[in-house]
Amino acid sequence: MSSKFRIAGNCACRGWALPNQAERSSRVYASHIIVIGAGLAGLTVSISLARGGHEVTILESAPEITYIGAGSIQVSPNASRILRELGVDAYIEKYCTEPVDLRMMSWKDGTLLVSCPLKEPAEKEYESPYWHIHRADLHRGLLEVAKAAGCKVLLNNRVVSIDPSKPSLLTKGGVTYEADLIVASDGLHSVARSVVVGEPTPPIPTGQMVYRVTLPAKELQGIPELKEIVTVPRNNHWLGPHGTVLSYLLEGVNDTLINFVFTCDAQMPEGVNQRPGNMAEVRRRFQDWDPRIVKILEHVGEVLEWRLFTHSYLQTWSHTSSKLCLIGDAAHAMTPYLAQGAAMGIEDSAILGGLLQKYPSPSDLPKTLKLYETLRKERANKVALASIDSRYYTQMEDGEAQRIRDAYLLANPGIKEGHQNIRCRKEFLDWLFGYDAFEALKGY
Ligand SMILES: Cc1cc2nc3c(=O)[nH]c(=O)nc-3n(C[C@H](O)[C@H](O)[C@H](O)COP(=O)(O)OP(=O)(O)OC[C@H]3O[C@@H](n4cnc5c(N)ncnc54)[C@H](O)[C@@H]3O)c2cc1C
Repeated sequence: MSSKFRIAGNCACRGWALPNQAERSSRVYASHIIVIGAGLAGLTVSISLARGGHEVTILESAPEITYIGAGSIQVSPNASRILRELGVDAYIEKYCTEPVDLRMMSWKDGTLLVSCPLKEPAEKEYESPYWHIHRADLHRGLLEVAKAAGCKVLLNNRVVSIDPSKPSLLTKGGVTYEADLIVASDGLHSVARSVVVGEPTPPIPTGQMVYRVTLPAKELQGIPELKEIVTVPRNNHWLGPHGTVLSYLLEGVNDTLINFVFTCDAQMPEGVNQRPGNMAEVRRRFQDWDPRIVKILEHVGEVLEWRLFTHSYLQTWSHTSSKLCLIGDAAHAMTPYLAQGAAMGIEDSAILGGLLQKYPSPSDLPKTLKLYETLRKERANKVALASIDSRYYTQMEDGEAQRIRDAYLLANPGIKEGHQNIRCRKEFLDWLFGYDAFEALKGY
């Protein structure tokens, strides 16, 4: 990570220091909050709530917190700003890579269609970095900060039912927990969502899937045509019919890693959402793409298949009791075409934590949860809709519309006002990346 954003010290946050053991044990808490799920949103909101003076217990269904296999994440400035404020950067910065730019290329021959800077505007305009990081490293960093902030993490505790009136919940092990508020960050297949909404609300398949691959970059070194891809930190996208390929570099724990996401129409058996993939099938599906992609696939041994889902807009994110609310994918699962799903969960976390710091009393919850929804729902929905548009813009079939798009991209390099491509549209990027959740809280 560049020194531009590095802040010295154990806790690199502005305005809060992680409590030491003595401070934790003598603390009088404003309220007790249960967070369901220790995913990216659950851990971030737990840190944010602990910072606001609340006692936080996290119930996670998994028996251990590990992130196995391929998977990495882009953390845009709107989210990195929050992670830095919460002190998470000190725990993850050595695993963060800052891409110079985003490049969109033609699927068949890799012709560069458009390039938009990422690192420079992140530094100069949005004043917070654009990171690429392995999910395992981000997850571990969040977990360490959550524990250091005093959050209790109870693993192997699957929540099976919720009584929003108390509020209380029951785990698979038969234990009932009570709190002043339950924050459900239980992801795409949330059990809490139907309790909030009052009817079943399953996620909606998008009809697409991804093959995810992460491997040491050195496995692709020495191949002349891949030199730039494996050495220059960029966000490379190949735009193809009904699909894209994304590649970027990551600082792994031991090695520089390279991450690939091959997006295409779903060919997975009904009812299967994730499974190890078949390399022969991936090679066949991408055999006509840029010869560099074909070359890369010769060197890949394992892929994970992942079905892509979305969710419809929810009218409410909190139960009428004002004692249960949703956050992260549980509230707004969205397609990944803009790389903003986790970023929105991180923004939710800053807003909910900030409001509950300002209005800590359980008696204020009706007002506080209303404010939370006011500040979050519209923005998250706008991003979700933009993400869907991005899918269709980047996955055109070869033909007239695609030729017009490509000619436009070639004639309009870089970021500018009114750009047809949302990833290069200045006013959209200012709105998305320039968002400061802590500023947004002022006045409420
Ligand atoms: C291919 C792909 C690429 C993506 N890339 C990006 C990107 O670059 N940038 C970005 O910002 N976003 C990205 N996203 C979106 C991002 O991954 C998600 O938005 C984010 O991980 C959601 O976090 P969450 O904490 O809300 O949910 P989850 O990560 O799903 O966490 C939910 C947690 O709750 C636990 N849980 C579930 N049910 C229960 C229960 N009943 N009891 C107890 N615990 C429970 C689960 O075990 C899990 O730990 C991408 C998504 C995909 C599919």
